[in-house]
Amino acid sequence: MPGDGPKAAPTRKPRRPPRPRHVPQRTCVGCRQNRPKRELVRVVRTPEGHVEVDPTGKKSGRGAYLCARRSCWDLGLNKGHLEHVLKTTISPEDRAGLEAFVATLPAEPEPPAARAGTRRPKVSAKSAGEGSGASGA
Ligand SMILES: [Zn+2]
Repeated sequence: MPGDGPKAAPTRKPRRPPRPRHVPQRTCVGCRQNRPKRELVRVVRTPEGHVEVDPTGKKSGRGAYLCARRSCWDLGLNKGHLEHVLKTTISPEDRAGLEAFVATLPAEPEPPAARAGTRRPKVSAKSAGEGSGASGA
């Protein structure tokens, strides 16, 4: 919705913060969701201008974060989000490197219901008489 402003997070907190530990959050450039940083994969634009996956999250350079999901990488790579965030153009070599990384990601998790359904043989009483009806007399 265009009319919706950014929702201000409630700043008023109870007096005793339960735990001061702060979990750093980053936004996935694919799905644009905020997630804990450790669940995301960092992509870095190196000082040399290369764009590569940074599994350690410690390389210097401008970084972008993506979920470890192929769909997010598809969005990031193919829709230009990643280039936009990194303010650079991804060279064909670097893109190939990123795509090689994407290939190592697990495929999208399938809904478990779909799997269970395939095991069940589809037999309907209606189709039983359909094929054999022609031979007779
Ligand atoms: Zn994502």
